[in-house]
Amino acid sequence: MTHNEEHPHCLWLDGDLLPWGEATVHITALEWVGVGSVFETFKAYRNDSVGRVYVFRLEDHLARFGDSMKLVELEPRFSPEQLRGAVVELLRANEVCQDTYIRPFAFASRGRYLSRGSPEAATSVLINLFPFESQLKTDHAVHCCVSSWTCISDDVMPPRIKAVANWNGRLARNEATRNGYDEAVLLNERRKVAEGPGACLMLVRRGQVITPPVTAGILDSITRDTLIGLLRQELRVEVVEREVDRTELYLAEEAFFCGTGAEVRPILSVDRFPLGEGQIGPLTRQIGALYHDVVRGLESHHGDWRTLV
Ligand code: PMP
Repeated sequence: MTHNEEHPHCLWLDGDLLPWGEATVHITALEWVGVGSVFETFKAYRNDSVGRVYVFRLEDHLARFGDSMKLVELEPRFSPEQLRGAVVELLRANEVCQDTYIRPFAFASRGRYLSRGSPEAATSVLINLFPFESQLKTDHAVHCCVSSWTCISDDVMPPRIKAVANWNGRLARNEATRNGYDEAVLLNERRKVAEGPGACLMLVRRGQVITPPVTAGILDSITRDTLIGLLRQELRVEVVEREVDRTELYLAEEAFFCGTGAEVRPILSVDRFPLGEGQIGPLTRQIGALYHDVVRGLESHHGDWRTLV
């Protein structure tokens, strides 16, 4: 698959590799897709010296996919091992050798609201792919506002389920871009900093990296977990997981979003308060460069996070 192609040659649907045009469902299957469907997103990064891609933290993403399915009570039709094999098989079948997004999607294709264990319930799983361009080690950075939308909470629409937060984030991002910002930061129901649309958030103050805890109404982000480990173990920087006030954002020396899509995305200002010098900060550059090397397999310490295809 190349950047010029509109879609992969084949998709994985319910256990089969199918040519793109044959991977179809009946229109009525869409009726309930918006209610109770969940997805996962992760990436495969190219390593130039081997001319192949590494999938980043595949097992962890599939484990979270399983958690999302469990929470919405979608019958788990395929084991994590089967899905792992399916992802590798799909990447190979499409001869993927460039940066690629991978997107498994699970929905109730039969049985709708029937609970797990019901013989009539059926979950369909699709795995799709598309190319992306990494922004790591570029100067791509964003100006943010604090959103007037409140982040969803665990007692209403659990952000831990990878589906519903994306509606919330979409409202926030649309509002932000309408008002001339690039991106939004959402506060939670306690009015503490939660996350951005599709990304978690870290800030740097007085030599510490501070990030809201997983109980702040955020997705349990795999990039956040990766960066916490890299900052502590490789860069020897103190990382504190605690509630963050809105005004701490304004006073941060540096801040960045982190996520599979956002990678490490520097934040230059919040509500027009410049952070630090209003430029990409040194620690943001350093952790962005390290993350780049880790996902592309340009270092040898974290081989267990990478699946070579
Ligand atoms: N929050 C939300 C709402 C997201 O959709 C994502 C993207 N998956 C993230 C945070 C970042 O999570 P991850 O690092 O696992 O991609």
